[in-house]
Amino acid sequence: MSCDIIKDLYGIYKDGCASNESKEIIKHHLKHCEDCRRFYRDVPSKNKMTNYHLNGDYALLAKRIKRRRTFITAAIASGFVILSAWAIAETLDKK
Ligand SMILES: [Zn+2]
Repeated sequence: MSCDIIKDLYGIYKDGCASNESKEIIKHHLKHCEDCRRFYRDVPSKNKMTNYHLNGDYALLAKRIKRRRTFITAAIASGFVILSAWAIAETLDKK
């Protein structure tokens, strides 16, 4: 998962709006990425999400979140397909 995506998810993560799947992805990334850990620690409480609310630009926020969710879902689905293909290939090799 790219650092940009992890940083984009900061708002929904801190607001407790992230799905369990997203939370796990973020936690896993933070464990291994010093840069994002610092970002999550140092970003003030008035984050991007709050700014969107202040501007009343809910449509843009919803669009961004939807795009990220779609990307994450696609990434996970792709991983699953690759793993499945590998497992089938392994099974066929053994026959
Ligand atoms: Zn990172």
